[in-house]
Amino acid sequence: MSTFSPFTEEHQLLRQSFRQFVAKEITPNIKHWEENKICDREVFRKMGEQGFFGVSFPEAYGGSGMDMWAAVAISEELSHANIGGLAMSLYAHTYLPLPVINALGTEEQKQKYMAPALRGEKVAALGITEPGAGSDVGGITTTAEDKGDHFVVNGSKMFITNGTMADFVVLAVRTGEGHALSLLLFDTATPGFSATPIHNKLGMHSSDTGQLFFENCIVPKSALLGEKDFGFYYIMSNFQEERLIASITGTAAAEAALERAKAYMKERTAFGRPIGKFQVLRHKVAKMAITVEACRSLAYRAVAEYIEKGPGAYYIISIAKAFICEEAFNVANEALQIHGGWGYMEDYGLARAFRDLRLLTVGAGTTEIMHEIISKIEMDEVRHDKVLIKARV
Ligand SMILES: Cc1cc2nc3c(=O)[nH]c(=O)nc-3n(C[C@H](O)[C@H](O)[C@H](O)COP(=O)(O)OP(=O)(O)OC[C@H]3O[C@@H](n4cnc5c(N)ncnc54)[C@H](O)[C@@H]3O)c2cc1C
Repeated sequence: MSTFSPFTEEHQLLRQSFRQFVAKEITPNIKHWEENKICDREVFRKMGEQGFFGVSFPEAYGGSGMDMWAAVAISEELSHANIGGLAMSLYAHTYLPLPVINALGTEEQKQKYMAPALRGEKVAALGITEPGAGSDVGGITTTAEDKGDHFVVNGSKMFITNGTMADFVVLAVRTGEGHALSLLLFDTATPGFSATPIHNKLGMHSSDTGQLFFENCIVPKSALLGEKDFGFYYIMSNFQEERLIASITGTAAAEAALERAKAYMKERTAFGRPIGKFQVLRHKVAKMAITVEACRSLAYRAVAEYIEKGPGAYYIISIAKAFICEEAFNVANEALQIHGGWGYMEDYGLARAFRDLRLLTVGAGTTEIMHEIISKIEMDEVRHDKVLIKARV
């Protein structure tokens, strides 16, 4: 509907080619992946082969060197496919661990992990959350004991996307007291590592969620990402892309739900006329459209600021994440309501959109944590670049 567009012709061509990819490689597999509660590893290889993982990454590592709007175009198309679980697996591979490697990794680490991940040859995951610590990153208890020329890792991670499929994990570990955490590039072929799938999820069925276990895992010092004991600060500042992508995804998924609701209102009749003639439902559509446009404006502004400031854009990104993830779920809820009993069935895709979107207010930093960040800036007059709270930022 909107005439404002930040997309160039190059972005639009990318969008069209990815749309074709989705129609050929993703849509026909939705039922199978959702029922199996895991997607196919082959889809990673195909995404990489076609260059879709690397659109916003440097050309030196196999990316296309485009800007973040390219990633936005890919994310929007994926959301319109209405398979949140697969989308999450692909984002958790691309936009959670890889930006951190890109920002902090050595040349050798980038060639060994980031380049094959962008080609889809290696599957990546981000391992921060533990059974006893999620928002409270400072509460992490998985340890990496410094043994001189190597670390010995012990502990466990919870709810890790791509957890059982991953070839490597960007892993947050404790290397000292207090906030002394570090990030390791952990190879899942390491002896002592194991992973079990978590299947009893409300939604996101086609994504692989795992619990990871580390028992006396020997990790070389060369696996350290950035500086030792600085992991907490890296986590605080370097994980903005996952929130940005969550905001884009939420907006596009809400828009897709609105489109479904409008189509259904034209075809369904009640009391002798299309339900689209009922003013109460038409006004629901108006409110949903207002919400989608508000979400899009906020998400796009956050992207524009991220392009300009990088992780320094976290104030507007936190606002976008908090607002959009709550509102996108509300739009899906209204779209389901408009479908009546059929909305509750699997047939129209609203049931899947509803349960998948529910995760967005929890994952990538909860709404409450976003509010915590925003309120610190608003109330304590803390300069944006100096904000530090003891929670996942
Ligand atoms: C399907 C799925 C996939 C996931 N994928 C990954 C992944 O790939 N990698 C990864 O590391 N993690 C992953 N997570 C974990 C996710 O990031 C955490 O669940 C989330 O950060 C919340 O942590 P928690 O579950 O420990 O909840 P808690 O931190 O225990 O929070 C419980 C409640 O308390 C609130 N709360 C906590 N602290 C505060 C505070 N200071 N002020 C106000 N309220 C507060 C929270 O907002 C929440 O409502 C995934 C989770 C799920 C469900």
